[in-house]
Amino acid sequence: MKRFRCRCGQAVFFDNALCSACGATLGFDPGSMDMLALQLDGEQWLSEDGASWRLCSNGRDFAVCNWLVAAAGEESRCLACQFNRTVPNTGVADNAARWARMEQAKKRLLFTLLELGLPLETLAQSPQRGLAFDFVEDERSGHGFTEGLAHTGYAAGVITINLLEADDVAREAQRQSLQEDYRTVLGHLRHESGHYFWQYLQAGGDIRGAFRELFGEESVDYAGALQAHYEQGPPPDWSSRYISAYASAHPSEDWAESWGHYLHIYDALETAAAYDLIDQSPAQMSMPRRIECWRELSVSLNELNRSAGLADAYPFVLNTAVEMKLSFVDRVIALLQTPR
Ligand SMILES: [Zn+2]
Ligand SMILES: [Zn+2]
Ligand SMILES: [Zn+2]
Repeated sequence: MKRFRCRCGQAVFFDNALCSACGATLGFDPGSMDMLALQLDGEQWLSEDGASWRLCSNGRDFAVCNWLVAAAGEESRCLACQFNRTVPNTGVADNAARWARMEQAKKRLLFTLLELGLPLETLAQSPQRGLAFDFVEDERSGHGFTEGLAHTGYAAGVITINLLEADDVAREAQRQSLQEDYRTVLGHLRHESGHYFWQYLQAGGDIRGAFRELFGEESVDYAGALQAHYEQGPPPDWSSRYISAYASAHPSEDWAESWGHYLHIYDALETAAAYDLIDQSPAQMSMPRRIECWRELSVSLNELNRSAGLADAYPFVLNTAVEMKLSFVDRVIALLQTPR
């Protein structure tokens, strides 16, 4: 993440909608990838350079978004909110707060995808290749939904995430019952975006062969592999071959976990560079350099967390097999960056 300042000089953050020092309304402009301070002029919001903006309708109506829309356009929703296909019923208690947490994570995901120059089109714009998000509830939410269980996952351009993942108690209970070291909304979204981009790439010969060598044969029975994983647990030596126990469930899951970690690492290194903790941004680094740098930095980060009485921020080990998988993700990203 980049470091932002209000026009008054105050440090402001990606999620802010107001400057705590001067009271200016703030919004994120995905065009300039910057936070802008705005002044109301009649119906329109003006930024310092005189450009006029509207607040995203999801920000204006539900306080779940701080992104801006150019006033000249037709769209009422911002670039990020246009990817939403199903949104929560905000008439139900807690849903607006949970939705807001979903949006924060989704926007952090999109920020990095935009930084990386990855192709982004909505499912509405491109029914064959576009992306959409469904924020859904099921009977567990206690909101009168009688449909069975809605699982977080990816299928045919759609990332589905259960709104309960934005509830700390529910998510922590789930994390413990699955014996996971790490479970966050952002982690889910980064992982699922990996399934999307692998499908988007429609990889042919060479790259598919390289995938198979690193991750295995992705056509093996998916439902059966997942069932076996949840019944029998991961292989005893998983930590020497995978980034997480879940990655050992199926080649597609190994890929999506590796992709998710690539994004964690890229964003964290960018933040570290913005705060002068390292002297290069990840865009300037080779993949081996990023891994080396992140190894050091993540140890410090975990120690800092322990000093604050918190659990490790990054409870993972980048073994040699994982290094190779991350380098493969980097290769796929380079292919996706090439306009076709
Ligand atoms: Zn300010
Ligand atoms: Zn929005
Ligand atoms: Zn997955």
